[in-house]
Amino acid sequence: MDVKSLIREIPDFPKPGILFRDITTLLRDPEGLRSTIDTLTEKCTDLAPDYIVGMESRGFIFGAPLAYKLGAGFIPVRKPGKLPAAVHTVEYELEYGTDKLEIHQDALRPGSRVLIVDDLIATGGTAAATASLVQQTGCELVGFGFIIELVDLSGRKLLPDIPIKTLFQF
Ligand code: IMP
Repeated sequence: MDVKSLIREIPDFPKPGILFRDITTLLRDPEGLRSTIDTLTEKCTDLAPDYIVGMESRGFIFGAPLAYKLGAGFIPVRKPGKLPAAVHTVEYELEYGTDKLEIHQDALRPGSRVLIVDDLIATGGTAAATASLVQQTGCELVGFGFIIELVDLSGRKLLPDIPIKTLFQF
């Protein structure tokens, strides 16, 4: 089955000139969803992570089943003010202004192996910010997993030199 074709394109969302890749049409397809999680699992098994770190909110959708399949734990990275215990915070640049992401300070055991997962890498800013959060905790970042890579935006140039696993390139 052509799983890539299940990803829908929405022109001018959320702003004029942006071609948004919509994964909801992949998620609602039982075979597409299963194939995506199974392929991501196959690509990431060799990294042997102790934890999957997923970013709010679409990183949760793919990160949690990947953690389940790999026998790893899942740790959410969230927008500011959502996590109840003490957090590490990172501020990062957006096209206009800045944004922040947070992780629980006690979520990751120092020295453990961490794989960062999100639905999509565009400029790489979100993934690079998450990497710096993980590094604040004294863990070993072993790789990144993305369902979609927008290759023209060269997001991987912002990331550390470790394996980057992707399923579909646009
Ligand atoms: P980056 O920080 O520029 O790499 O953007 C990646 C983040 O923006 C991810 O968390 C994505 O969920 C979100 N994102 C950017 N573009 C798209 C898109 O076309 N479809 C879905 N999510 C997107």
